[in-house]
Amino acid sequence: MVFEADQWETSQSKDIRYVGIPGMNAPAKQLAQDLTIHSSQTIDALNHKEGKWHLHSAESGDIGQAFDELILATPGPQAFALAQHIHPDIKTLTEASNMKGCWTIMARFKEKQNVAFDAAFVNQELISWVTRNLSKPNRKGAESWTIHANANWSQEFIELDKSEVTAQILACAKKLGLDCSTADISIHRWRYASGSSTPAPGYYANRQVQLGMCGDWLHGGRVEGAWLSGYLLANHLSRPL
Ligand SMILES: Cc1cc2nc3c(=O)[nH]c(=O)nc-3n(C[C@H](O)[C@H](O)[C@H](O)COP(=O)(O)OP(=O)(O)OC[C@H]3O[C@@H](n4cnc5c(N)ncnc54)[C@H](O)[C@@H]3O)c2cc1C
Repeated sequence: MVFEADQWETSQSKDIRYVGIPGMNAPAKQLAQDLTIHSSQTIDALNHKEGKWHLHSAESGDIGQAFDELILATPGPQAFALAQHIHPDIKTLTEASNMKGCWTIMARFKEKQNVAFDAAFVNQELISWVTRNLSKPNRKGAESWTIHANANWSQEFIELDKSEVTAQILACAKKLGLDCSTADISIHRWRYASGSSTPAPGYYANRQVQLGMCGDWLHGGRVEGAWLSGYLLANHLSRPL
């Protein structure tokens, strides 16, 4: 369904929509199953010395290993914070990554809610998207709804107190027909949820310092942009110099 100018309409979109099964992160987990990943390590400093990369993490201090190549697959603003000092090109590119946040609410109910839609695109309201999670294929468990505030509103109020954001989003949800007064509510602020640099170069590779950058912000945003950006960078790096 689509809600716009206080009117409901059936969505005319013919786009095929893909969802992860059993959860949205399942495809990423599948891709990562044979990789060695050190999670919960916030890299807060990096340096290139004598042809090698040296990393420092907030949790573990200096990573006691030097690396030949480094790929930053973080959102643009986080790449800016880490690597702007490495090369002027990196500073210019990461500074131009125009990313916006997304305030997201998860509302969990004890019972199925009597709502006239399973999913809705919402225009001209502070909510942009709302969906009943059990309506996705092969989902199990309790009734829960995901509600996204739109990118411009989220960015404008990114520092607002969570309780105030929750109140405003739930008031809008109620207007759409989803009354969350009996729900267990959690709210999450995604700081860098959407947007990209314009024009989007696809990826960044600097052979001089052996540094690459990829991510959705370099390929027009969204998950397919993230994948394509990584794919293009990997192809570039596998070519001989
Ligand atoms: C609520 C929400 C809903 C979305 N819905 C959709 C959708 O329906 N369809 C769609 O196509 N896209 C959607 N997106 C966008 C999609 O999630 C992104 O396009 C995609 O995840 C981008 O992938 P990425 O690899 O470029 O970056 P990310 O997925 O952002 O990954 C970057 C990683 O870098 C890590 N990182 C950052 N800084 C550091 C650091 N200093 N040290 C260590 N690690 C660090 C982060 O923790 C993160 O794991 C949604 C995004 C959000 C937030």
